[in-house]
Amino acid sequence: MRIDIATLFPEMCETVLSESIIGRARKSGAIEVHCHNIRDYTPDKHRRVDDTPYGGGMGMLMQAEPVFRCFLAVCEMLGKPPYSIYLSPKGEVLTQKKTIALSQKENLFLLCGHYEGIDQRVLDEIIDEDISIGDYVLTGGELPALVLTDAVARMCSGVLPAAVCFEDESHFGGLLEYPQYTRPEIWHGESVPEVLLSGHHLKISEWRERESIRITQERRPDMYQIWLARQNVQED
Ligand code: SAM
Repeated sequence: MRIDIATLFPEMCETVLSESIIGRARKSGAIEVHCHNIRDYTPDKHRRVDDTPYGGGMGMLMQAEPVFRCFLAVCEMLGKPPYSIYLSPKGEVLTQKKTIALSQKENLFLLCGHYEGIDQRVLDEIIDEDISIGDYVLTGGELPALVLTDAVARMCSGVLPAAVCFEDESHFGGLLEYPQYTRPEIWHGESVPEVLLSGHHLKISEWRERESIRITQERRPDMYQIWLARQNVQED
């Protein structure tokens, strides 16, 4: 998979995406991520990319033309239009299910807004879908684009050592993850649950499932109800 991020702050994205698991996945070629500076595509000789909104109001808006030219440049690099996403608090809120669906795409174009946002006309022309990372407003789309890139990339093959790394985790199967423990066996007077030391794989797996169900019911009754309904359908 290849992800192209269009932003006014490419260094901010590069710094994060060069580290840890995603950084290694980029180096190994498991995923490709390219950051583009929208300012490089402005026709303005002073490299301006924003202007005041028509109708008045606070703040500045990113202009349509630099964003459009940046998108066209990416289309040219790819030889076809990518699936194009605008990170926006007005979008559908990101879920694990969505990251799995997006990880099946060959190319993603992620557009980061700044200031008060972006001229609607270019969004109408180039964007397939708006995605939000939660019901709050950030100063820019860079952090949301990084969140989306990280969440989608770890679903791509070759990024994590094996599918089991994410299949067991919170949200993948509709439950939250069970508690985990590592050495030492006793810490601050608290022992690791006995069953985890037993070496009995079936018992460990049953305990983990019970704990997952308990934690989900306690912390996310909304998720628990959906999971329960699905179990009942499967049993019928
Ligand atoms: N005026 C916009 C509104 O009220 O919907 C908010 C603009 S926000 C200050 C600037 C940029 O940050 C947006 O264009 C978007 O790209 C990004 N952004 C802010 N909050 C976000 C969120 N929850 N999810 C995704 N992107 C977000």
